[in-house]
Formats: sequence, C-alpha cells, structure tokens
Amino acid sequence: MFVAFDDTDSLESMCTTFLATEVVKALGVYDLIGLPRLVRLNPAVPWKTRGNGALCLNFGVGKGECQMIGEIDGRPVYSYRRMYEEANRDLVLEVAGKVVGGWSRVGEGASPGLVVSQVKPAQRLYWEAVRGIVRKEDTLRELQRISADMVGWEGGRGIIGASAAMAWRPMDRTYEIITYRQRERWGTPRELDDASVRDMDLNFPSTFNNFDHRTGRRAISPHTPCPVLFGVRGDDPRQLMSAVFSLRSEPPASWLMFLSNQGTDDHLIRAIPGQPDRSYDFECVVAGRPRTIEGGHVIVQVRTPKGMLDCAAYEPTKEFREVVRSLRPGDRLRAFGELRSEPRTLNLEKLQVLELAREERKVANPRCPVCGGGTKSQGSAGGFRCKRCSAKTSAPPAMEEVPRHIVPGWYEPPVCARRHLGKPLKRMGL
Ligand SMILES: [Zn+2]
Repeated sequence: MFVAFDDTDSLESMCTTFLATEVVKALGVYDLIGLPRLVRLNPAVPWKTRGNGALCLNFGVGKGECQMIGEIDGRPVYSYRRMYEEANRDLVLEVAGKVVGGWSRVGEGASPGLVVSQVKPAQRLYWEAVRGIVRKEDTLRELQRISADMVGWEGGRGIIGASAAMAWRPMDRTYEIITYRQRERWGTPRELDDASVRDMDLNFPSTFNNFDHRTGRRAISPHTPCPVLFGVRGDDPRQLMSAVFSLRSEPPASWLMFLSNQGTDDHLIRAIPGQPDRSYDFECVVAGRPRTIEGGHVIVQVRTPKGMLDCAAYEPTKEFREVVRSLRPGDRLRAFGELRSEPRTLNLEKLQVLELAREERKVANPRCPVCGGGTKSQGSAGGFRCKRCSAKTSAPPAMEEVPRHIVPGWYEPPVCARRHLGKPLKRMGL
C-alpha cells in the first residue's frame, strides 16, 4: 500500500522527511517494501516550501531478501524487496492520517496532502510536477481513476506533490541518509565535526554535495531549527552507510535511507526557455558584456533562437559569478537554469562553455601612409586622419588578442548554492 504526503512543513520549521520516520513508527505492524522515496519537485513553483520535496512509502508484509535501512529510536528498520501480502488500506489511511495531520504545521502556511493507494498514478504526474505546474483537477481525476484515497488539510495542495511522488518511476536515482536529532536538542546548535565531514567527502567518492573545500563549510546540515541533524547524498547505498557512520556528531535519535531524484537534473526541460517557473537546458550565444548589479549579482545577456534573455548568477553562487563575469560576446554556451517571470531572468545553475570567441583590443592607430606620422580617429566618419599632413587612411588599427580567463568546459556553483535536483558535475563523471 503506497502512502505519500507533501506540503507538511512551513518555511520556518519541520521537515517532511521527519514525518516519514513517524509514519514508519506508527505503521510498525507492517514492513517497508523498497526504500522510502524522497521526491523533489519543480523548484520554480511560486508556492514552494524550503525544498519542495514529497515522500512516498510502501507498506505490506514483506518476503524474501531484506536489508536494514535505518534505525528509529533504537529499533532497526528493514526494507523488503518483495511483498507477501498487501497492507490494510483503511488501517494505513487512519494511522498515516493521524501522523500527518498531527505533525503538520497547519496554520503556518502549510497545505498538507496525504494519498493512499494500492497502485501508482500514471508516470506523467511525476514529470509534469517536476518540470512544470500541475493543476489539482488533473491530479484528482487520476487519483479517482486508480481509486486512491486522499486527505487534504488547509486546501490540501500537498495532494498534488504526494501524487507526483507516488507516480515516480526512477530513470536516474540517488540515495540520501537523513539523521534526526533527539527531541530535547531540537532548536539548539548542532554538534557535528566539520573535519569529519571534510574527510568523509574525500574518502567516500560516491557521495556528493557534502563539503565546500574552498570555504571550509559543510553543506549537509540545515540552518533551520528542524529535527534534521544532517543528510548525506550518494550513488552507492552501501558506501553511503559507511560514509554516514564515519561522521563525528551528537548521537542521532533516528536515521533513515531514502531513494531520491535529487541530483538527477530531472527538472530540466531540454528546450529554449519559454514559459516561466520552469527550468531549461539550452544552447545560446553571449550577446553582451556581463555586468555586476547591486547586491553583487552578475547578469549576462544571451541570444537564443527565441530572442534575447538575461541570465543571472546571484550573489550566493559566489565564485561561480567569476565564471559568468569572464564571458564575452560571441562565446557559445550550454546554459542550465530556472526562468523567473518578473523580472524575466534565467537563474543560472550550471554552465558549459562550448566555444570561446576571440577577444581583441586596439593597441595603436595606423601610421600615415604618406608621411608615416601618427593618426587620429575620425569618429563616426570612419577611418583615420594624419595629425601632421592631414592625409586620410582606411587602414585598420593594430589589434592584439586579449587573453581569456576562462577555458571551454563545465562550471557549477559551489556546494552550498546548488539545487536539490541539479546534477552535480561529479555525478556526470566530470
Ligand atoms: Zn601624414
């Protein structure tokens, strides 16, 4: 029986993934089939909470091979590959409803939704929700078709994300182990040794987005007073577990491994940017010199077959801005990012410089062809005129090539400024 929920957290507190541990605990009479799924959805939707992530778990009576995938309050959590018997739908709905309704931050802007179903919704619900904006009517029609049960609170917007999470069939996938704090520590500073995070990042190459080696800052723990201690992402579930156990931190109350679409680029539409509130992967040519605006943001105008477009590297992307600042008119790029509507700007999240234009600057005016003297520009009239004998010349000025401070290749923002869904260059084998 699939159980999915979303939009349970407000901007301030909680974390939808924490509810997964509460649901697992409350439904302890059943086994988990497969891994709990943490599914990130379109990061560009205007009403997103912090991470815009939805959860989906599958409960039943397991059979065959099982593995330990977590620990909740000192008790191991197992995941079975196959199901012997389906969980009771009414029981699951009642228990999960109490947990999600009881823990959600209703009244703080959350609009939670819970969906329970024996079969998954059509796959398109996932792709529409990760790349675009899904209307609730479309979701409800699909849920009706598969005879799913649903509960919504405060408008129940979360039903859309919950259904999308349930609809996900992984093409690409990653894993994340999230650890949760003991309750009495919630809201206090997290005890986590930065050096151990750095070492883990170096010693476990299948993990990603852990540590910014340039600034010495870790990226695995949130800055909010939520119950999450830290989360480590990776490509290899076995190595991920060793990586997490190598960290030195306060003792977590619980930990759980999730299957996720994080770091997959699933949100990118391979097309020239059109509709806003979506993210694109497209080729373009730099049209103007980059400029730095108030706040330290860098804007560069590019030409696409659909017209000119401003691309931005915002201040939090730090040294990535230097890359964008080094671009010059004529450079050919493959750009990745989210298109915002007002102002209509593409928020760059990754960049491939395909080809650099030759940049030249004038070093001297031509010499006079009659007397060999110096010349001066005639401005808009064009050409040069001798300062001594007034003879005109249309010879070109002497030029020299300006060295470029960038080479063709891939560039991405530092770990701290990356999107949950963005595929790190590390995962691309670069
Ligand atoms: Zn002359």
